[in-house]
Amino acid sequence: MTVGTDMAKLLAEVVDRDIRIMHVCGTHEAAIAKYGIRSVLPPQLKIVMGPGCPVCITPQGEIDAACELAERGCIVATYGDLLRVPGTKTSLEQVNGDVRIVQGAAKAVEIARQNPEKEVVFISVGFETTVPTVAAMLLTNPPDNFSILVSHRLVPPAMKWLMAQGEASLDGFILPGHVCAVMGYHEYEAFPVPQVVAGFEPEDILLSLLMICRQVQDGEAKVENAYPRVVTREGNVKAQMLMQEVFTPTDVEWRGFPVIPDSGLALRPEFEMFDAQKKFDLVYAKVTKNSGCICDKVLRGLCDPSDCKLYGKACTPRVPIGPCMVSHEGACRIWYQYQLNK
Ligand code: SF4
Repeated sequence: MTVGTDMAKLLAEVVDRDIRIMHVCGTHEAAIAKYGIRSVLPPQLKIVMGPGCPVCITPQGEIDAACELAERGCIVATYGDLLRVPGTKTSLEQVNGDVRIVQGAAKAVEIARQNPEKEVVFISVGFETTVPTVAAMLLTNPPDNFSILVSHRLVPPAMKWLMAQGEASLDGFILPGHVCAVMGYHEYEAFPVPQVVAGFEPEDILLSLLMICRQVQDGEAKVENAYPRVVTREGNVKAQMLMQEVFTPTDVEWRGFPVIPDSGLALRPEFEMFDAQKKFDLVYAKVTKNSGCICDKVLRGLCDPSDCKLYGKACTPRVPIGPCMVSHEGACRIWYQYQLNK
């Protein structure tokens, strides 16, 4: 018998009522789908997805702004996952302009140095995991023709918002291992709900579910760490200091969510010369969705991808209608890849 099946058996003994647990990490969803973890869970235990895909939660107004930069003659450097996310009129893949895929901000700076006559803008998306490298790069004195479109988001404020709404009836959270490796997990201790930091092997995820369910059974609400080989309570303090030196929290909208206080990052005044939004006077338009896409509900744990009428029909990875079908961390794309339905 494997460790995984042992834990599935233990879970069946612990779960004696309906329990809904949310994860907030696309890599967790990918592992859950790949290893068929939902298929070994007791029927009363449901794992739902939260806003764990940084590309999926980038609002259309910010995608439109990135496309506008390309149309205005800038070289736009972006992660590949963002390329096909539909904006209001076009995407970075289809826009008439110079859009280049890069692995990170350092490559975008290299492009800026090679093209001093052009403006180069890096579309800086991602949760706490990607921010320190961007901050470190901005501290290396990049050239004047380089700037970033800041689209970073922070996980704890979104979880706080979700808990305040109460709409997804959540009993606990699997905390994101990658984010916690950088930030630690002390911030989450303020939330009165069972939470466990998890790694990405099937046994890691099953163990975290077991630990959450035991907390639920015992009426406890604390943060536990099922990923101690990577995550500590304090996290990577040096990385956090880099972030704080360059960025400061700010209120931002998430796709599918309203403006959430202190859930995004802005450049500190001494780094404003690298702020593409200010440099190019960009205004993020508030976009009202009208496509029938229910990514907003998927990202809030209210629906599964297969609840969407367009899933696998009008919307596929080849012809994506919403961002959740584009990104490798998007729930719809992951479910489509593994042919999951309810
Ligand atoms: Fe949106 Fe497509 Fe997912 Fe439906 S299947 S929620 S249209 S991304």
